Amino acid sequence: MSILFIADLHLDDSRPQITSLFERFLATDEVRQAEALYILGDLVEAWIGDDDDAELPRRIAQATRGVRDAGVPVYFMAGNRDFLLGDSFAQRAGLTLLDDPTVHALHGRPTLLMHGDLLCTDDVAYQTVRQQVRTPQWQAQILSMPLEARRAFAAKAREDSRTHTGSSMESIMDLNVGAVAAAMRHAGVTRLIHGHTHRPAVHEFELDGRAAQRIVLGDWYEQGSVLRVTPTTVDLKGLSIG
Ligand code: MN
Repeated sequence: MSILFIADLHLDDSRPQITSLFERFLATDEVRQAEALYILGDLVEAWIGDDDDAELPRRIAQATRGVRDAGVPVYFMAGNRDFLLGDSFAQRAGLTLLDDPTVHALHGRPTLLMHGDLLCTDDVAYQTVRQQVRTPQWQAQILSMPLEARRAFAAKAREDSRTHTGSSMESIMDLNVGAVAAAMRHAGVTRLIHGHTHRPAVHEFELDGRAAQRIVLGDWYEQGSVLRVTPTTVDLKGLSIG
């Protein structure tokens, strides 16, 4: 049996075919018979609060709830786009929230799970903002704004990021390899799974003389991307829209 991982779907009304792909994938026998489904952050392009009454969060909750109701645990770790997702939505959607980082044993092998942005330590400006927006004070202040104001705020943030990068795709500084080694050493693992950079790959390397593995999940901008972990294999593949 497989343990499944996805991340960086960036679900958004501007890409309805990706939302449909997500719904169809979660309804497959493969997912409904998996050992577990992990969503490692940036499930949506922007999360403005669990009280959002838009269609997209409702559809997401229905899709993940269906997997949970089939007896498959659905784990969610927040990314830099959806860190405002909280207990109320998690309950509705059947999600078990994970801290970033978390170590889970996959078929007995301890594996470090992260969204990935914490490892981009070269981007000092980003890390400063990250710390600020993760404080309960900042979050409480944002969540106290009316829904419409939060929608406008999110739209403005998206617009700024588009202007900044010159495209709708995220252009992200790659991870700091020293930060990767330090995080894995600290967690006492030889395997790390994360997303965020949109550079899907299985990296094999040596960590303190031991064989180690870093698996980077792919984004869902133009197709899906799924990692399947079995007791003996890891398989990272695209998922086509068609
Ligand atoms: Mn991200």
